Amino acid sequence: MDGRGFGLNIGQLLKTPVGRNPEQVVHDGDGGVQTYRDLHAGIDRLAAGLTRLGLGVGSTVAVLDWDTPRYLQLFFAVPMIGATLHTVNIRLSPEQILYTINHAEDYAILCHEDFLPVLLPLLPRVTRAAKLILLTDREGAVVPEGFQGELSALMAAEGPGFSYPDLPEETRATLFYTTGTTGDPKGVSYSHRQLVLHTLAVTADLGTVPGKGGIKRDDVYMPITPLFHVHGWGFPYLATFLGLKQVYPGRYEPSRLLALIAQHEVTFSHCVPTILAMLLAAPEAAGADLSRWKVLIGGSALPEGLALQARAKGIDIHAAYGMSETCPFVTHADMVASQSSEEIGIRTATGRPAAMVEVRVVDLEMRDVAHDGRTTGEVIARAPWLTHGYLRNAAGTAELWAGGWMHTGDVGHMAPDGTLRITDRLKDVIKSGGEWVSSLALESIASTVPGVREVAAVGVPDARWGERPVLVAVVEGEVEPAIRARLMAAVTAGDLPKWAVPERICRVGAIPKTSVGKLDKKRIRAMLASGEIG
Ligand code: AMP
Repeated sequence: MDGRGFGLNIGQLLKTPVGRNPEQVVHDGDGGVQTYRDLHAGIDRLAAGLTRLGLGVGSTVAVLDWDTPRYLQLFFAVPMIGATLHTVNIRLSPEQILYTINHAEDYAILCHEDFLPVLLPLLPRVTRAAKLILLTDREGAVVPEGFQGELSALMAAEGPGFSYPDLPEETRATLFYTTGTTGDPKGVSYSHRQLVLHTLAVTADLGTVPGKGGIKRDDVYMPITPLFHVHGWGFPYLATFLGLKQVYPGRYEPSRLLALIAQHEVTFSHCVPTILAMLLAAPEAAGADLSRWKVLIGGSALPEGLALQARAKGIDIHAAYGMSETCPFVTHADMVASQSSEEIGIRTATGRPAAMVEVRVVDLEMRDVAHDGRTTGEVIARAPWLTHGYLRNAAGTAELWAGGWMHTGDVGHMAPDGTLRITDRLKDVIKSGGEWVSSLALESIASTVPGVREVAAVGVPDARWGERPVLVAVVEGEVEPAIRARLMAAVTAGDLPKWAVPERICRVGAIPKTSVGKLDKKRIRAMLASGEIG
C-alpha cells in the first residue's frame, strides 16, 4: 500500500509498547507470566495459525473464554489478519448464544473447555460449518471430536513472525451482541479506525489527569469487566498501547481478585457497581489495602453509598458513562476536581464528555433542554467511534441514529458547566402523577443507609397515579425506617420531590442481575407483578 494511504490499524497500538519496553509483563490469574515480546510473538503465531485455517478478511471468529492473556492476544491477532473478533457473552442463555453465533455467521469458534457443555449441544443447530478450536489452560485436555485442535498446539506449529495484510481502516474489527429488554440480541461492531481513535482519545483524556489520577504508564492494570462486554470497555487496547503491566484474572471470584490486586499491586481497574460491591463485601476486603487502587465504575450509575464505602477504603473511584453502541466511552466524572474536594457528588456524577465526544440533552423534537441541572431529556451523542448501526437490523439502526445523532435511550440533565447526570433509562423511568421519578436518585440515596447491601427502584402500576415507585432491597437489620428518614431528608433538602418517596420497601434475599451484572429491572418488575416479590 502507498504510505500516503496509511490508515489506522489495531496493530499500530502494539508496536510502540513492544518496541519501547519488550520486557514489560502480562500475568494470568494462575501464576503464569509473559513479556510483551512473548505476547507479540504469540500474536504472530496466532495470526499464522488462524490464516492457515482459512480465516482472514471477511471471516468472523467467535471466542468463548475467561479473561486471559490469550484473549488479549486474540483482541489483536484476529482483527490484524482482517477478520472480525466476535466476543461471545458467555453469560447469555444457550439459546441466545446460539442466536448470536448464527447471526454473526461465525467462520470459527474458539471455545474454552469450561464452556463446552454449553457449546457442544448447540453445534447441530449452528448453521455455518464453523471451524472449532479448543482453548485450555492445562496439559492433556482432550480435544473433542470434530475440532481442528487445541489453540496453543496450533500456535506451536507455526514459525516466528507474520506478514500482516494492509487493511483499509474501515475494516470491521470487533463484533458483539447487546441484549435489550425486548427482542433478539443486537449485533454491534467497530472498525479498526474507531477502536484506534477511541484508544487515542481515552488515553489523551485519562492519561493527562494531573498527579496520580487517571491512567499512566506506571499503572498496573487489571480488568474486572468481562472482555466480552464491549471489548473490556476498550481498556485492554489502551493498557497495551501504554505498555502497562497487566493482569488478566480469569474467573471472577472476590477472594481471588483481592489476592491478585495485592500480589501484583494493581492500581487501575474498571467494573460495574455490583462487582465492586461484591468485592468490598468479601471477608478478605476487611484487611486489604486498596489505597492505591483507582477504579472506574460504568455500565450503571455509581450509587453514593458504594462511592462512600470505596472512599473509606481509600479507593480513587469515579463514574464513567457509555454503552455498547458507544465503544463505550462517552463521559466520565471530574478526576481533577475530586483531587481537591471530598464532595462525593463529584465522583458519582455522570460527568463531562470525553475528548472528541459531543453530548446533548434533548426533548422529543430533538431541541436542547435548558442546561440548568434539572430539566431532563434524552441524552444523544456523537463521536468518531460510535457504532454505525446494528448488524442486519435496519429498523433498529434507524431508531438508534434518528436525526443523525445516536439516541442513548437514557434520560438525564445537564448543569450549566456541562456536567451530565443520568437519571434513568427511558425504559425504566417511573411516571407518577404525570411526573418522572428518577429511579437512580432513589437508589443512590437509599444506598447511603448503613445495612443496605443492594437496592433497586422500579415503577409498579397504580390506579390513582399511573405508577408508583417501589424499592426492592437486600438489607441487614431493621433499616426500613432509616431508609424512609433518609429519603425524607432528601425531600427537605430539595434533592427529591415529595411524590418520589416510595410507600413500599420490599426485602429480598437477592436482586436479579443481567448477564453483565446490572440490576435486571425488567425481571424485578415481573417479580413484583407476579407477587414473587411483595
Ligand atoms: P451496556 O450497553 O450494557 O453497556 O449498557 C449501557 C447503559 O448502561 C447505558 O445506556 C445506561 O443506561 C447505563 N449506564 C452506563 N453507565 C452509566 C452511568 N455512569 N450512569 C448511569 N447509567 C449508566
